Amino acid sequence: MNDTLTRYAQAKIDALAERSLTRRTIPTHRLDGVWVERGGRRLVSFSCNDYLGLTHHPAVKAAAVAAIGLYGAGAGASRLITGDHPLLSELEVRLAGLKGCEAACVFGSGYLANLGIIPTFVGPGDLVLVDELAHACLWAGARLSGAQVLGFRHNDMDDLSAQLTAHRPATGRALVATDGVFSMDGDIAPLDQISRIAQAHDAWLMVDDAHGLGVLGEGLGVAALFPGAHIDLQMGTLSKALGGYGAYVCATAPVIAFLKMRARTLVYTTGLPPACAAAALAALDVIAAEPDRVAAPVAKARRFTTALNLPEAQSAIVPIVLGASETALAAAAALEDQGFLVAPIRPPTVPEGTGRLRVAFTAGHPDEAVDCLAEAVRPWLAR
Ligand SMILES: *Cc1c(COP(=O)(O)O)cnc(C)c1O
Repeated sequence: MNDTLTRYAQAKIDALAERSLTRRTIPTHRLDGVWVERGGRRLVSFSCNDYLGLTHHPAVKAAAVAAIGLYGAGAGASRLITGDHPLLSELEVRLAGLKGCEAACVFGSGYLANLGIIPTFVGPGDLVLVDELAHACLWAGARLSGAQVLGFRHNDMDDLSAQLTAHRPATGRALVATDGVFSMDGDIAPLDQISRIAQAHDAWLMVDDAHGLGVLGEGLGVAALFPGAHIDLQMGTLSKALGGYGAYVCATAPVIAFLKMRARTLVYTTGLPPACAAAALAALDVIAAEPDRVAAPVAKARRFTTALNLPEAQSAIVPIVLGASETALAAAAALEDQGFLVAPIRPPTVPEGTGRLRVAFTAGHPDEAVDCLAEAVRPWLAR
């Protein structure tokens, strides 16, 4: 066979299969924030980031539909050409106000945002320090910048200080980047301490709040839990609790203005469809109007950790670390047989040897479903 690309791909797949690391997309029909249909079966999902059920909220859907009717399905061009629909500015003003910042910039997705933001502000000769468990796209943006990129031990302030002391370039710039809520662990970065250390070393701080907005700090996000922290770049997504698609970063007006001139994932890509901005605005209305909905995901997560005697949940995400990838796969398959969708998470998404179930709670989960899941998970904890 002469097709070397196909042979290359097949050999890679075979090697992954030997380590229980193959992955595939699985068509899944999400019926609402809780129920999914997969392979002809209905399952209760504990694997969606739709923490408030807003993907299917009538007001959010209606806003998107109305925007498509009025403004069309797509943006038509980059935001710097003709793709900057006024709804995007409206959303940016709203997000900046929410975060107490001067300005905001909306991007196509969280991954694109982080790829665009970091290289705009640091480059060769500079330093980026990233929490070792931070999301893959913070790492990708840092590496793309050409700066020296180092990891610091997860939430370890001594290591962060030591690395800044050892590696902060005398003349260059330094950036500390972390998740606010860690996406596979559900714990929270000590932003007050990180901010103090960053300032002591003349380093900027960027926080990715993908899992905080709409869930923590009465819906305002993780930074609201640390009112004294100085965060230069507050990034987050529109795709999790807000139930839509897109991302944003909030900062001072000059930082945002420069970003709009230079971030390659904004300049060289089509603008967010107006319907995404309309949906996000409607979602922010729901979040502002319904504090009980906002409080529910963490309350459900705590009900679950209490039932299983686990450390109290700090967010809507609870990890059940099982170790081997095979064990994570077996546990997920067993739960699926019992009617629960809890996706197994394996390397390289998590470190080697920490395969796990990642349980994500949403406002719509009935307490009985949370209790049933706890009973189904219990035997796996005992092993
Ligand atoms: C999901 C996620 C992203 C990526 O956001 P998308 O909008 O899905 O591209 C970025 N950072 C963190 C921490 C995330 O969990």
